[in-house]
Amino acid sequence: MLRYLVTAIGHLVFSEVSQALRSTKMSDGEIVLLTWSDYVGFMRCRGVPRDQIESRMAYGLGWAVAGQAQTPFADLAPNPWGPMLEVRQVPVPNTKTRIDIWEDAPPFHFYLCDSKTNDGENWDCCTRGFYKNALAAFKAETGLDFLAAFEHEFMLLDDPISPAQSFTIETMRNVAKFTQDVTKALHQADVGLETVEPEFGVHQYEITSAPAVGIEAAERAIITREVIRECARRLGYRATFTPKVEPDGIGNGAHVHFSFLDGAGNNATYDPKQPHNASVVAQQFIAGVTRHLPAICALTSPSPVSYLRLGPHHWACGYASFGVQNREASIRICPSPDQDPKRAAKAFNLELRAPDATASPYLVLGALVMAGLQGIKENLPLPKPVDVDPADLTDVQRQELGIKPLPSSLAEALDLMDADPVVKSWMSPTMYESYVSVKRTEIAIAKDLSDAEICARYARVY
Ligand code: GLU
Ligand code: MG
Repeated sequence: MLRYLVTAIGHLVFSEVSQALRSTKMSDGEIVLLTWSDYVGFMRCRGVPRDQIESRMAYGLGWAVAGQAQTPFADLAPNPWGPMLEVRQVPVPNTKTRIDIWEDAPPFHFYLCDSKTNDGENWDCCTRGFYKNALAAFKAETGLDFLAAFEHEFMLLDDPISPAQSFTIETMRNVAKFTQDVTKALHQADVGLETVEPEFGVHQYEITSAPAVGIEAAERAIITREVIRECARRLGYRATFTPKVEPDGIGNGAHVHFSFLDGAGNNATYDPKQPHNASVVAQQFIAGVTRHLPAICALTSPSPVSYLRLGPHHWACGYASFGVQNREASIRICPSPDQDPKRAAKAFNLELRAPDATASPYLVLGALVMAGLQGIKENLPLPKPVDVDPADLTDVQRQELGIKPLPSSLAEALDLMDADPVVKSWMSPTMYESYVSVKRTEIAIAKDLSDAEICARYARVY
């Protein structure tokens, strides 16, 4: 009897222990995504159960390098990579984002990654690395930090509520649950939400991020877009950031506001003693961007559908031009209305209007910084400002102002990039060739499609 009791107790203890063990192994099903921005601006990802993330922080997860040759449509562009080559997608600890505002879905939990070789070196085709290199070069040359913020224009597809008029309260209140979720989620993600508003187009909205220094500006853009997509998804909408939903519709831009910070935290783009209050370094930067913009469109407006948006007469810029306040200029000075000189100095900034969200924010900002830096290195003079739509000028007037057209197709943009050795020099030969190969494949895919079909295909995936 005693023996029986001891055995029974033994069983009890054993089964309790094993249950306890089992329960520590129980998973709530939460997946942590390791995610990275590729050439086509997609956030590709791999996931691990939450309880395994710690063990993945140092070396991340492997990823076949050939994956970088993917177009947005599951086609693989010709590429130099075989089946053996891998990079490590290594999570960057301070990009951890975990949003748990939904009762009917697990938290949205992810890290942005650096792509590293197996030796722990930065991979020369990593888009994040491209921007980090640009920031380092800018800092080394100027001693300044780069501050930037994106404006995100997008449309809510599958919105069952018939749209109201542009910019109205009704348009806003029709999607009040969505904007509430976005606001809560971006607050939890701590990525500097600035404004949430209706835009000009049907079902079009705009959310702007607050400026951030260095790499964080790109991270904020990426996280903000993915959070917007997720909030839309949960409510049965689809948020699309595609540059054009339909050929004659309103475009979605991804304008970038930026300025520079000196060591004391002052705005180094501002100088009230200079023309238009733009410091000498800002003037040179503007000149560099204006000169290289036709070529860097291949990085900032990098899809066939980008060229259905880019163009004059609808504030999406058709020319490489500079203006003060002018929304038809591709790069413009945005003065502050603040009467307080200190606050006005702080708020003064520049805006690049060409980019759209088919581009990786890392490539947009990297190209912008490198183009501007070139202007600084060469002491280029500030271009003459234009205060009308450059498309309304004559050819002669544009020539006098040094205004060149932006490319009218991705193929033209790639040719212009190929003819610009400065731009090519920012990328390793492998990055340049593989990037161009992906983009040429995208052109081939779109070749026989009508503009409407191109819009529809891109709206489905961006
Ligand atoms: N939607 C326009 C674009 O495609 C911009 C309108 C605006 O200035 O906000 O860039
Ligand atoms: Mg806008």
